[in-house]
Amino acid sequence: MAKWVYLFKEGNAQMRNLLGGKGANLAEMTGLGLPVPQGFTITTEACTQYYEDGQEINDEIMGQINEYIGKMEEITGKKFGDAENPLLVSVRSGARASMPGMMDTILNLGLNETVVNAIAEKSGNPRWAWDCYRRFIQMYSDVVMEVGKKYFEELIDAMKEKKGVKQDVELTAEDLKELANQFKAEYKEKIGADFPDDPKEQLMGAIKAVFRSWDNPRANVYRRDNDIPYSWGTAVNVQSMAFGNMGDDCGTGVAFTRDPATGEKGLFGEFLTNAQGEDVVAGVRTPMHISEMGEKFPEAFEEFNKVCKILEDHYRDMQDMEFTVEHGKLYMLQTRNGKRTAQAALKIACDLVDEGMRTEEEAVAMIDPRNLDTLLHPQFDAAALKAATPAGKGLGASPGAACGRIVFTAEDAEKWDERGEKVVLVRLETSPEDITGMKVAQGILTVRGGMTSHAAVVARGMGTCCVSGCGDIAMDEANKKFTLAGKEYHEGDWISIDGTTGNIYDGQIPTADAKIAGEFGRVMAWADKFRTLKVRTNADTPADAKKARELGAEGIGLCRTEHMFFEEDRIAAFREMICSDTAEEREAALEKILPYQQGDFEKLYEALEGCPVTIRFLDPPLHEFVPTEEADIEKLAEAQGKSVETIKNIIASLHEFNPMMGHRGCRLAVTYPEIAKMQTRAVIRAAINVKKAHADWNVKPEIMIPLVCEEKELRFVKKVVVETADAEIAAAGIDLKYEVGTMIEIPRAALTADAIAKDADFFCFGTNDLTQMTYGFSRDDAGKFLNAYYDKKILENDPFAKLDQTGVGKLMELAIKLGKPVNPNLHVGICGEHGGDPSSVEFCHKIGLDYVSCSPFRVPIARLAAAQAAI
Ligand code: PEP
Ligand code: MG
Repeated sequence: MAKWVYLFKEGNAQMRNLLGGKGANLAEMTGLGLPVPQGFTITTEACTQYYEDGQEINDEIMGQINEYIGKMEEITGKKFGDAENPLLVSVRSGARASMPGMMDTILNLGLNETVVNAIAEKSGNPRWAWDCYRRFIQMYSDVVMEVGKKYFEELIDAMKEKKGVKQDVELTAEDLKELANQFKAEYKEKIGADFPDDPKEQLMGAIKAVFRSWDNPRANVYRRDNDIPYSWGTAVNVQSMAFGNMGDDCGTGVAFTRDPATGEKGLFGEFLTNAQGEDVVAGVRTPMHISEMGEKFPEAFEEFNKVCKILEDHYRDMQDMEFTVEHGKLYMLQTRNGKRTAQAALKIACDLVDEGMRTEEEAVAMIDPRNLDTLLHPQFDAAALKAATPAGKGLGASPGAACGRIVFTAEDAEKWDERGEKVVLVRLETSPEDITGMKVAQGILTVRGGMTSHAAVVARGMGTCCVSGCGDIAMDEANKKFTLAGKEYHEGDWISIDGTTGNIYDGQIPTADAKIAGEFGRVMAWADKFRTLKVRTNADTPADAKKARELGAEGIGLCRTEHMFFEEDRIAAFREMICSDTAEEREAALEKILPYQQGDFEKLYEALEGCPVTIRFLDPPLHEFVPTEEADIEKLAEAQGKSVETIKNIIASLHEFNPMMGHRGCRLAVTYPEIAKMQTRAVIRAAINVKKAHADWNVKPEIMIPLVCEEKELRFVKKVVVETADAEIAAAGIDLKYEVGTMIEIPRAALTADAIAKDADFFCFGTNDLTQMTYGFSRDDAGKFLNAYYDKKILENDPFAKLDQTGVGKLMELAIKLGKPVNPNLHVGICGEHGGDPSSVEFCHKIGLDYVSCSPFRVPIARLAAAQAAI
């Protein structure tokens, strides 16, 4: 019989896959002899089994849970439902990878009328007892039975108004008792049955709710964003309660051993007296700084400091801990490697190496490459910031700068974003339902909540700027307005927030690019030492190329030449070329284009200082470039000396039903070889000029032919290129080497790669098109139906963002396997969007690619991911 349940003392940190992160660490802390309220963990496999059994807990698992309740009762000396010494538990989720706030928790489980009376009397603290009970009814109703929180909040507000008090803590035992009864009545009205009294029934309901929460929409979104497979499931931790809300000698806190925003060593966190854990995390009350805990609870604080040291030394990483103080005694409820900003991640990794706790390899492996994105995000323009006066201040919860128009709901944030507006989401506090709105917002501003509140934690994870806990804001969410420093702000007003300082500014402050230095360079240098995969960039302009070089790119893997024509004065010449109807006209248009191209290529070679530059020949899906505006059509007609009517007819004749599979890629060069000739001249002439100016640089153009599906097609275009290039080189009387390669972006090219390799110096996987054509999903339209695929669990990720290793990856492996034996010098890269996605980079390393190429800002991510793949 499988083992589905483990006591904390039966597990350890190595059992993370089975017990989840929280369960494994509770077990490890138990093993270390730390003060952990005891309990048991139901495994992640039980969760998977629950889903396999049609969302039921089967008899075998149920039997083991009941058995372990007995063991837990023995260990704690308490009993479920007992009037003398009742066992009360918390029930918490805990997946392999931490998913803060995404799944459900239930506290104070085990309470009923008998038990609440018993603990009220025994503790001499009826207020506490009734507070626990009303919290439990509220949480259970919300989480297990899905009765909305708001009904209970309305009852609390009504009670506070009746009693003329502002804070929950001002309500008396009698008030809370009355509230508990009102809550039960509310439950009965909504559910049509009495609130369950039997603790075992309560527990089964709670366990199911946690399993169910693995599949809630916000958890699914979080998993997709963080690359966590659905198949992992969540464990459930049933832990004996420690009470932080029994009076003023009690409290609860969340703390990090280093500052999660900066990485600075030292205790960082928050503490609330007379409260339960959820109060800190939910951001309902703004807590005190952890250092103040030392004044109020000197002994517990001293012990907590010792525990922090033990845990950090043990895990050799920054810890994020939850704890409770019950009548002055410390209890540890959780520890985990803390989430951190990119800045903090780099500093902590370097510090741990300097402290002798970690090797350089380990330090590199500790950093989540995706996190680096946030380092590269904008900051406020320094001069503009200096001139601005803050209108208010909250906590700098997630660094970066944001400037946008105010919206008050997540839904509005999405709507405004769709209209192309930049928004700052302003909320009393955020909850996990707000995640989609938070994702699209430039920044998040909350009235309540500390550095560990939902808004703060989630924003840091996303790399979105966030200011939390600005209590000076007088919020009126219902009427979509708030007042700050005497000014009323409405929906649509501009606001700027600084997630590093917590400052809030009226109006717009321009932002400037982030500067990266210090630890970033150090960690990147380590990464470069360990990786074998080269990292190039996709850059179409000299400015992009320069940026990418600064970020460590070792070459250009893809220059999309059609992108060089987005500018106003250039697009006219490009349109003339597209809309020519004779070879002479086209050649005349190409003559105009040639100097632009040559000039751009020269600048690219200059920017790359002798590193490889791959120039891809024209691949425009023509519909992206034909004029649609009347004025543009007229301009084109004039330039070509044709009537508007004629141009319109030409445009109509260019219409394609499926332009992505139409007259694009090397098909253009097959029909109009003069295009390939012009581009070859531009590439070769530019290279010759730069080589003359920099004799010490290794200028060696790589010409890349796109969208090849047949060897003869490549051979045809290559012949045009080689004849033109050789003539240019001979005329210049210079020794210039160049390469001609192809993109592999049509399945047939991968399947016939042995034939294609005969004519190719290199392959570069265009996984955008390769994904499009392998799935048959239009890369422009897939977004419309992919959500349905996620909902139905047909797909877990967007295959255009994360490489499909099973199908598309198999084609890549096949192309390498077929191509290399034919041409042992063949070098192979990837330049689809996947080249900057960490898991895809790892795959590219594994199948033996020479390089990945990605957009400039993703170069550091790829460098780090490549190092991690090699370690
Ligand atoms: C690709 O298809 O992956 C690619 C890099 O080319 P493009 O995105 O320009 O089609
Ligand atoms: Mg392509």
